[in-house]
Amino acid sequence: MPVLSDIPIELDAREVVLALHQGKKVPPSLVSETRTAISKSRPWMHPRALYAWVSVREVAGEKVVLQPANGNQHVSLNLGPHADLMTAAELALVSVVTIGGELNRQVDALNKAGEFLGAYLIDSIGVVALAEVGKTVRRYAEEQAAARGWGVSAALAPGSLQGWPIEGQFDLCSLLPLDEIDVRLNESGVLVPFKSASSLIGTGRRYRSQKVGSVCRFCMRADTCWRRRK
Ligand code: SF4
Repeated sequence: MPVLSDIPIELDAREVVLALHQGKKVPPSLVSETRTAISKSRPWMHPRALYAWVSVREVAGEKVVLQPANGNQHVSLNLGPHADLMTAAELALVSVVTIGGELNRQVDALNKAGEFLGAYLIDSIGVVALAEVGKTVRRYAEEQAAARGWGVSAALAPGSLQGWPIEGQFDLCSLLPLDEIDVRLNESGVLVPFKSASSLIGTGRRYRSQKVGSVCRFCMRADTCWRRRK
């Protein structure tokens, strides 16, 4: 199954700080501190992406039925009330991205040493870095859809899209050999290492958008998420 490992991560200290402060003015000293933290944390990031294309057989009520290309049995995802976001999908890109576990180990070590601000900063840099890896997958979906003259859905994920609980990762991730990128699911359905994320992106001729959007308006974490888009 395709694995991407040569993934550039563009991190701009000012943008990281602005995201953390939700666009409010921030002291230049914090930007400088973040720049240093970005340089320090680069060796702790090991970005990888694993993906598979699957056919979308049907959307029935709150369920989306996917057919893997390898002929394996179909997989039914219980997306909940927003399953209609996949109604126009003919092919879907299922993916898991990660930056590995090293950065989180460093964050734990900093917390244990009482360096809470440094730990918070590096943890936040990891969140932004993971989002950058996700962008690579989204761009790939957009390019593949554009080559067919198709459009794309938003990126949907269990534990984020309202009505699709985190346990939905078990069904979604059954379509991918996670061990190829050293990722696993724990008993609660959470991806380990924690700086990992899954997504489902629909593509099809009836989608109007050429850009994979976010589902912030339908997201369970919208109230607390500092990356939320309007
Ligand atoms: S609110 Fe945050 S977690 Fe939810 S979709 Fe938007 S960026 Fe992602």
